[in-house]
Amino acid sequence: MNDSFTRRAWQASWTCVLLLALAAVSYPQTAHSSQGGWLKDVPRLIDRQAKHLFYLHGFIVENEGIRPTSPRYGVYEYEQIVRTLVNRGFVVISEARPKGTNPEVYAAKVVTQIQILLKAGVPPQNITVVGASRGGAIAAITSTLLKNRDVNYVIMAACGNSTIYRNFKVDLWGNILSIYDYKDDGATTCRPFFDKSTGVNRRQEVVLKLGIGHGILYRPLPEWVEPVVEWTRQPRKGAARRTTHREVAVTFDDLPFVSVTPRDDTAYTKMTADLLRSIVAYKVPAVGFVNEIKLLDAGEQSDARVSLLRMWLDADLELGNHTFSHLDLHTTPLAAFQADALRGESVTRNLLAKKKMPLRYFRHPFLHTGRDLETKRAFEQFLRERGYSVAPVTIDNSDWIFAAAYARAKERGDEATATRIAAAYVPYMESYFDYYERQSIALFGRETKQVLLLHANLLNADCFDELADMMLRRGYSFITLDDALQDTAYDSADTFTGTGGISWLHRWALTAGKRDEFFRGEPATPEFVVKEAGL
Ligand SMILES: [Zn+2]
Repeated sequence: MNDSFTRRAWQASWTCVLLLALAAVSYPQTAHSSQGGWLKDVPRLIDRQAKHLFYLHGFIVENEGIRPTSPRYGVYEYEQIVRTLVNRGFVVISEARPKGTNPEVYAAKVVTQIQILLKAGVPPQNITVVGASRGGAIAAITSTLLKNRDVNYVIMAACGNSTIYRNFKVDLWGNILSIYDYKDDGATTCRPFFDKSTGVNRRQEVVLKLGIGHGILYRPLPEWVEPVVEWTRQPRKGAARRTTHREVAVTFDDLPFVSVTPRDDTAYTKMTADLLRSIVAYKVPAVGFVNEIKLLDAGEQSDARVSLLRMWLDADLELGNHTFSHLDLHTTPLAAFQADALRGESVTRNLLAKKKMPLRYFRHPFLHTGRDLETKRAFEQFLRERGYSVAPVTIDNSDWIFAAAYARAKERGDEATATRIAAAYVPYMESYFDYYERQSIALFGRETKQVLLLHANLLNADCFDELADMMLRRGYSFITLDDALQDTAYDSADTFTGTGGISWLHRWALTAGKRDEFFRGEPATPEFVVKEAGL
């Protein structure tokens, strides 16, 4: 089957498609189906309120019937899976496909079924296609053919080097959840599809750590059933934005790039392009803080490196000063530190001037702001006189530990470990959002506008989409640093002179006399990540 055939099928008049569908229906009908039910085709009486879910099983059911046994994974409990989904309130449309079914032909059938539901008034967000392995490939083809941004899809263990995709170019549309197990030897990340697709609305990838590979598909495991149910409940991206009540400014430190490995200009350029593509796609008005020492290559200013900064500016993003050589104010005399800050602004200031932008933000390396009030105040006065505002951080975290672990795993070609680290990263960051949202309420009685610190590294280049999705899911909108600093919380007294490079929320809390129990519950970096980072 080719695209033009499918397009012709869609252009058939609706009456015609509907009659054909009615003629084919011979299964029990449910008029009051909001309780859930199992149908083999779209019902004659369509309940517009019901959540409809297509379940497309794996290849083994085509070949060996509805309760096949794999020597490796055991029994494929097709009926149990469908019943579990019915019990979660879905009208499940699922049938055992005949042996030798052509995925593209079957996907065209699902497209027609979805069109019937849409035509009957079922909102697209109440339609979900869940496909496992071969069924997942059919779901991906369905998404490509249907081209509806609001229909939900769950692609389970179906991305990777399947021969199906050699003949069919996938272009995903809709809300796509990918689920696979990290020990699967065939199915891997859907990222290459995500990156090439043109109609993805929401996207997420869940990497299970059950270690049973393709075995996850064989039973209705809560590890995948729950994310599926959750995925069908989520509001549309636009809707989430309208009800947003949280705001965050996103900042990146250590520009142009902090890289454990690889370390060459081609790699830097690719990583920067990847990161910026995500930042721009999510319309995040980020600020990047530069260490100009990194513009040197063998002691000479490198055009290639300066170009990386131009890429940020060409993406309409702002740059700030992070000192020339990332000195530590806690171990450097004030005069030397000030000299390094000044040395760190020359290229950046020129580049900004070409865009008619001022250089207005300074971020302390290590977030170290001085071990005594005199030094701290003197440096802040120095910054003010040069037109700088300090760029504080409220959502502090250890993304750099994850990044080091991730880069090392990538360098030795250990994709399983890299994937495991990336999969742990977004939940870890979300736990920090949760923590600082609560800290903010504990201190101010409300959630302040937040400032997030990230680093310009390979991990964030690869994962920023997922991070941004997480923030949107939590109801955040992305604001400028300037906007964040308008929040009166940022005028709070800060006399913190401790050793830590800590969140400004905690500096304000300490200054306000908060002690021990106030700070409890800060998330920890998973042990395996610390170990993989080799720190
Ligand atoms: Zn830094």
